[in-house]
Amino acid sequence: MSPYPAWPFLSDPQHPFLSAVWAVLIHGVLGVFVLAPLIWRARHRASWAACAFAGGSILDVDHFIAAGSLSLHRIETLPGGRPDTHSLAFVLLLSLVVLVLWPGRWKLAAAWSCFAVNTGHLLFDGAGANEHLLYPWTGSDGIPWLLCPIGAVALCAASELLARHIYAPNRISRMPAAMAPR
Ligand SMILES: [Zn+2]
Repeated sequence: MSPYPAWPFLSDPQHPFLSAVWAVLIHGVLGVFVLAPLIWRARHRASWAACAFAGGSILDVDHFIAAGSLSLHRIETLPGGRPDTHSLAFVLLLSLVVLVLWPGRWKLAAAWSCFAVNTGHLLFDGAGANEHLLYPWTGSDGIPWLLCPIGAVALCAASELLARHIYAPNRISRMPAAMAPR
């Protein structure tokens, strides 16, 4: 794989605070985008969108753990690049845990949301290299940047399919009122 060296959207460790704000912002927007069809149909759009926005950055908690520090400068300049938990395998595992533990009928939507938001995060980071996307299978470090927009649109399209399934008329009639769409 050939990471695109000029991917201009990654944060700049020279400005740790601004970088962190930028990272939270862009991962949040991407999180909302990949789940947009589900968020749009939900009764509580704002809370769904807020969760997707916040969830967009959740994966970066691994930076703090790897650095053993709350220093923004240290988490943004980890030796060896991003932690190995910035990988598809970890995201799949996380989504499986959500699928197993999430109670009730929103299991699938919750697990998919976890997968889509975190995969969107990986695609964005991976476009700028220094990421072990396919850990533990390969040591590749990044993806061609075009995969980021293509992947985000594909995730959004999959959310649309899932939303159509979840909000199919015969299923809505069986939903508790709080969960039904507007
Ligand atoms: Zn990240």
